[in-house]
Amino acid sequence: MKVMKFGGTSVGSPQRMKEVCKLITQERGNIVVLSAMSGTTNSLVEIADYFRKGNPEGANIIINQLRNKYTGHIIDLYASGPVRQKMADFLDSEFTYLHTFSSVEFDDIAEKTVLAQGEIISTNMVTAYLREQGVKVLLINALDFMRLSENGEPDQPFIKKQLEAILEENPNYDLYLTQGFIARNAKGDIDNLQRGGSDYTASLIGAVLRAEEIQIWTDIDGMHNNDPRVVEGTKPVRQLNFEEAAELAYFGAKILHPTCIQPARYNGVPVRLLNTMNPAAPGTLINNEFVPGAIKAIAAKDNITSIKIVSSRMLLASGFLKRVFDIFGNYGTSIDMVTTSEVGVSLSIDDTSHLASIVEELKTCGTVLVDEDMCIVCVVGDLRWGNVGFESQITAALHDVPVRMISFGGSDHNISFLIRGADKKAALQALSAALFPEE
Ligand code: ADP
Ligand code: ASP
Ligand code: MG
Repeated sequence: MKVMKFGGTSVGSPQRMKEVCKLITQERGNIVVLSAMSGTTNSLVEIADYFRKGNPEGANIIINQLRNKYTGHIIDLYASGPVRQKMADFLDSEFTYLHTFSSVEFDDIAEKTVLAQGEIISTNMVTAYLREQGVKVLLINALDFMRLSENGEPDQPFIKKQLEAILEENPNYDLYLTQGFIARNAKGDIDNLQRGGSDYTASLIGAVLRAEEIQIWTDIDGMHNNDPRVVEGTKPVRQLNFEEAAELAYFGAKILHPTCIQPARYNGVPVRLLNTMNPAAPGTLINNEFVPGAIKAIAAKDNITSIKIVSSRMLLASGFLKRVFDIFGNYGTSIDMVTTSEVGVSLSIDDTSHLASIVEELKTCGTVLVDEDMCIVCVVGDLRWGNVGFESQITAALHDVPVRMISFGGSDHNISFLIRGADKKAALQALSAALFPEE
């Protein structure tokens, strides 16, 4: 059994949905995870924002725009009158439901419930199409098995137990379909796995069921060796080690959600990145294999803030770093990069929601300097310290770029540079030119 996940652009129009249906009906017994149609979750975020700001009129305008868009898809997707009517009624009930949030107190649960409707709609639309085509498909409600524990992390034993029970009670379907992204929290309220989290849903399902493979189908032929939105002429990477893929996803390669590699790696389930627009392309295989001596890819993470704490008292003061880290830890703010010297420490963070309080407390440790709008550029591959040459080649490529911090040796797979966000494009281009010259 395989888990196949299709992202927003892959189900972004009736035509694309039909293409996806061709792909998922080629084998029997697989589990298919779908995102919302592209743009929908952004619209739902906007709707929720209007409701939260006490402006139901603004929300209702966007709901009606969305309603018109979706209603227009019915005729393109379904052939028969009764199915068209059934889906018109379904969409009508969905959008009428969204309007009802005008008259409730709009709290976090209401917001998450609004955000969940994109995946609920897309999976119902595809299910109805498949059934009209005579495919025996079971739509499994992700809210019945995808649960978070008290700490906000997926409750994998619960997910496994529930999903296995559902599958056992429903054997012999051609395929099983479910929603990505959506979940329930430990209290049973609707929640989600964060934006882009459908990849995580697929990985969790593949991991708990020990699937043969987790396939992430998107709009590009695999992980490229640099960000294709920024650098021209990037190429797909055929194979990545789990750790290399995790570093790239964490450091900004948008094709994969940062959390998605962990469950697959832990359970040894390979992940394959494939292109819905070009299904024959080999894509990228992510597994335990490690290719020595190869630099695989470059990624960049935006909106980073760096904080330098300088203190003459740090000299020989044991416990200084603990005090600094505890301040970040107490505010639940995770640190991406760290560099130290005898008189100071520099750190980088991407969550600045507690920055002002953190800086206030850090002032008890030393003089604090903050740089905003920074960017982490990360090069991934075989960067074991015993190798020679790669660090100098990578650093030399950045000779025209002012570098604020360098981090190397934290893993065998990564070297990271903190630079100004404004220099990102030049840095990524220079690295591609140096590391992946045209053959
Ligand atoms: P989906 O909606 O299918 O989840 P995403 O938009 O989340 O798709 O991810 C696919 C996009 O990721 C690509 O269209 C591409 O622009 C972007 N991307 C960023 N970095 C990379 C990379 N290194 N390799 C491939 N795609 C990348
Ligand atoms: N629909 C959600 C989002 O846009 C989840 C996903 O697509 O992975 O963030
Ligand atoms: Mg995505």
